[in-house]
Amino acid sequence: MNKKIRFFSSVHFKIALVFVLLLMISIEIIGAIFIRELESTTIRSFEENVTSQVETLATNISGELSKYHEDSKEGNLKRTLSEFAKSDILEARLIDDKGIVIATSDPNLQGDIGKKNDFELFNTLNQRREEQRDPVTGRRVYINIQQAFSPTGDSVIGFLYVKSDIESKYQEVNDIAVIFLTASMIALTVSLIIALFVSRTITKPIGEMRQQAVRIANGDYSRKVEVYGKDELGQLGETINEVSARTEEAQETMEAERRRLDSVLSHMTDGVIGTDRRGNIILINETALDLLDTQTETVLGKSILDLLCLNDDYSFRSLLEQQEGILIDLTEEYDAALILRAEFSMIRRESGFISGLVCVLHDVTEKERDEEERRQFVSNVSHELRTPLTSLRSYLEALADGAWKDPEVAPEFLKVTQEETNRMIRMINDLLQLSRMDSNKVELKKELVNLNELFDYVLNRFDMVVKDSDKNYTIKREYTRRTIWVEIDTDRMVQVLDNILNNAIKYSPSGGTITCRLLETHKNVILSITDEGLGIPKQNLGRVFDRFYRVDRARSRAMGGSGLGLAISKESIQAHGGSIWVESEEGKGSTFFITLPYEPYEEDLWE
Ligand code: ADP
Repeated sequence: MNKKIRFFSSVHFKIALVFVLLLMISIEIIGAIFIRELESTTIRSFEENVTSQVETLATNISGELSKYHEDSKEGNLKRTLSEFAKSDILEARLIDDKGIVIATSDPNLQGDIGKKNDFELFNTLNQRREEQRDPVTGRRVYINIQQAFSPTGDSVIGFLYVKSDIESKYQEVNDIAVIFLTASMIALTVSLIIALFVSRTITKPIGEMRQQAVRIANGDYSRKVEVYGKDELGQLGETINEVSARTEEAQETMEAERRRLDSVLSHMTDGVIGTDRRGNIILINETALDLLDTQTETVLGKSILDLLCLNDDYSFRSLLEQQEGILIDLTEEYDAALILRAEFSMIRRESGFISGLVCVLHDVTEKERDEEERRQFVSNVSHELRTPLTSLRSYLEALADGAWKDPEVAPEFLKVTQEETNRMIRMINDLLQLSRMDSNKVELKKELVNLNELFDYVLNRFDMVVKDSDKNYTIKREYTRRTIWVEIDTDRMVQVLDNILNNAIKYSPSGGTITCRLLETHKNVILSITDEGLGIPKQNLGRVFDRFYRVDRARSRAMGGSGLGLAISKESIQAHGGSIWVESEEGKGSTFFITLPYEPYEEDLWE
């Protein structure tokens, strides 16, 4: 853009050249006419002058010439001729009517007197005027031959031959021409310098304006064109300055607008993607990048269909026409739960031309998961209630059909209905408890409790139960020696421990050992309950704390479990600020761990 213009192709040079050429042509024409005129005038006046002198001389001399014929006195004639031959006259010679030289003004040619004139014989009646080249000197001479008449004027008595130096006149004209040429050269040189200077005053502001235009194009508005005058160039300069100011203003407004848009986009909690009319991404905000776990550089120019993995189900055109939002499940592609809701709207120009697409992304993973959990929960509850209700109905039907009269089966049937009803009540109670926990309605009644004693109390109860139970097991205690005081809700903690111990017995064959440990770290207390039972398959370990989840549904139900015990335990422990987890090896046994926050008391430290 900022290419250097060579001097010879510049306007600066061209203007000067035109000036000088015009001047040269004018000088040339004037010179040619002037020199020609000058030459012809000079020569003509010279010739006329010489002719008139010669004519006068011829008249004046005729008296003497006639006398010469009578007394042959050439002395006077010679003097007259010598006097005549001054300045431009080279030679004046007198020839008689027979062609014999009578006298000559040239002292060197005195020898010719009396001789026949070596010039060709003139036609006696003619007089001649002509320009010749002198055979000796090679200079141009003007020959003027004039008849001299007898005083009476009736006969030609001789000829006056005058040779004058016309060359000197030519020389004069030449000298003038040389002066003229020199003067023109000087004039041309001076005018070339002036022309260059003048054209510079025109091209300099133009050059500056050009540079300013280049600067504007490059976004540099800091400088201004210098305005040299009020002429057209000055006005153009002012206009360019105005254009620069306006462009700067417009640029600033656009920049501010862009920054505002950028900040709006980057602070939006929704992801925004903009594409061109082919569906290639030209804009993406921070949130969208985070959602899709990618970088601006990676996605710019990429197709939106590729980025959102929509290639199989949609074309760009169908996205443009998509009125309602779509759900995009990217869980598989991203190896983590990710469900996005995408709303599309096309960008149309006033002319109706579609120039792109804007896509707004909302992360609905959580919402969808909650929704899914809710659906699952409702289905689980219905399923869990249907089984006992179905069995209740069949027993009640049997009783209604007459079994109530049979003293052998009736008590048995009633016992089953009672058990099923109890089980449903238990389940409903569990669900109510969970629901209260979910809505944070349960307040913990915390008190400072000696955990060693509390654990012992629960285990002692199980020791008692074993005596009445058909299952045989041993409970081993391994406690830290220190007494541990923690602030907990006793009822809840007992419920959790009951639950885990019940499971340990439920899911172990008879004869196993249940090892219960109580340990402390400097910030936590850890309770663990290890059984030697069935264990839990690795893939199910993470899910045993989910509501209604059971590894072996039939077995659990047979044992009277609802699948809610561990879920409630987990909520309780979390409400205490602790955590609960399980480690297990299938077929060998499981260990449930509970940690609770713990601060050793100062008395303990003194001990
Ligand atoms: P349930 O009422 O079915 O026992 P829980 O929530 O207490 O419900 O336990 C969920 C599931 O975890 C059980 O169905 C069982 O499959 C598994 N489980 C719990 N404790 C143990 C354990 N000690 N050994 C083996 N499996 C267990």
